[in-house]
Amino acid sequence: MDLSIIIPLYNEEDSLNELTRQIVEVLKDLDLSSEICFVDDGSTDDSLARIKHLREQNRKIKILSFRRNYGKSAALSEGFKMASGDIIITIDADLQDDPAEIPNLIRKINEGYDLVSGWKKKRHDPITKTLPSKLFNFITAKVTGIKIHDFNCGLKAYRREVIKEIPVYGSLHRYLPVLAHWKGFAIGEIIVNHHARKYGVTKYGWRRFFDGFFDLFTVLFLTRYRQKPLHLFGFFGLISLMAGFIISLYLTVLWFQGHGIGNRPMLFLGVLLIIVGMQSFSIGLIGEMITNLKDEEESYPIKEKIF
Ligand code: UDP
Ligand code: MG
Repeated sequence: MDLSIIIPLYNEEDSLNELTRQIVEVLKDLDLSSEICFVDDGSTDDSLARIKHLREQNRKIKILSFRRNYGKSAALSEGFKMASGDIIITIDADLQDDPAEIPNLIRKINEGYDLVSGWKKKRHDPITKTLPSKLFNFITAKVTGIKIHDFNCGLKAYRREVIKEIPVYGSLHRYLPVLAHWKGFAIGEIIVNHHARKYGVTKYGWRRFFDGFFDLFTVLFLTRYRQKPLHLFGFFGLISLMAGFIISLYLTVLWFQGHGIGNRPMLFLGVLLIIVGMQSFSIGLIGEMITNLKDEEESYPIKEKIF
């Protein structure tokens, strides 16, 4: 199979017919064998019945349906497992992403990129969404060093090797380019057409900001310190411990000189820094033990093997 299209969907009944028609139209002009994988993320509306009906007319369509709503990351993760294409393209089900961009994504992949992300340069979403998103993308690009503008675009293309190497869970789908970049894959970007939501409602409220924020920490931690947690916790622990030690030493000298130190706020600070420092250091050590015990080995993506 050359190409798999993965569509995560949660209560998108009104969009599905039109979306499928547009995708089929695009695929017709491509000289590639292809499949369309719908992942129904526990929809409670008529979505599943609609895609089943669509499958009756089109055997390219594959369906997977969750018993309940698990979130977009889970849907993508299962979608990646069921996809058999060499190139895998994800697209939102709400018609905000334009299927006409599919050939452009493939072209960019063929230029030599492993992951190509869409960039919704001109976005048709309310400002409450676009503004935080701008900030978010800016921070993510800065701290990760990846030069793309739109990390959370639903429209993305992957080479098969990429999806085999990166785990998606929780709400980490926002950071797929970061995880892929960390594994050494080449990340590209193309500007894509974006539409306003025509039917249905967005599935994310204000919670998305917190989710995204925590995930950034998770991703940074997992990419940099997964294999060496002590290097992070130990660093802060040691600094805190040393500061506490210096303060205590200073107060000890004063005490020997006959000064009273029992009511010095600094005493409390010194003690606090020592305790916190020890704790942080210990957490780092426990982290190292967990890393050491975990049986699945970290995989290192291999580009070529010449023996
Ligand atoms: N989605 C999903 N499971 C969820 C939430 C969303 O599969 O729990 C799908 C949704 O149906 C859509 C895509 O993920 O196809 C993007 O969701 P949405 O359009 O609500 O996000 P937004 O465009 O507002 O960022
Ligand atoms: Mg949307």
